[in-house]
Amino acid sequence: MLPKQNPIAECDAEAGTYRPRVNRNRCEAKAACIAACPCQVFEVRRIADQDFRALSILGRLKSRVHGRRTAYTPHVQACKACGLCVTACPEHAITLELASPSARSGTDE
Ligand code: SF4
Ligand code: SF4
Repeated sequence: MLPKQNPIAECDAEAGTYRPRVNRNRCEAKAACIAACPCQVFEVRRIADQDFRALSILGRLKSRVHGRRTAYTPHVQACKACGLCVTACPEHAITLELASPSARSGTDE
């Protein structure tokens, strides 16, 4: 079988119908999601203080080891639910979920 050249062309989801959610207790800021996403949904940056405080004890330890960096989704409405980020993440930190109507007008998480 030929590799997919344009994966979003095979995805029927309307942009913003689904959204990726990052489990920050698992994320190690390896940025594979940035490389995989054809819609530029992700960025990796320093974790916000309130997100750091919400981590488990192990998650805080991991976060410190990885420079307190994590993945965010500033362009979440562009998501076309191709699933490439889910399979690319080496930490199994990303899940796709149906976006709520109010979340479809939001930008980041
Ligand atoms: S969500 Fe996964 S692929 Fe993205 S930065 Fe975190 S560990 Fe890396
Ligand atoms: S499923 Fe993941 S890789 Fe695909 S468009 Fe959405 S955020 Fe990007």
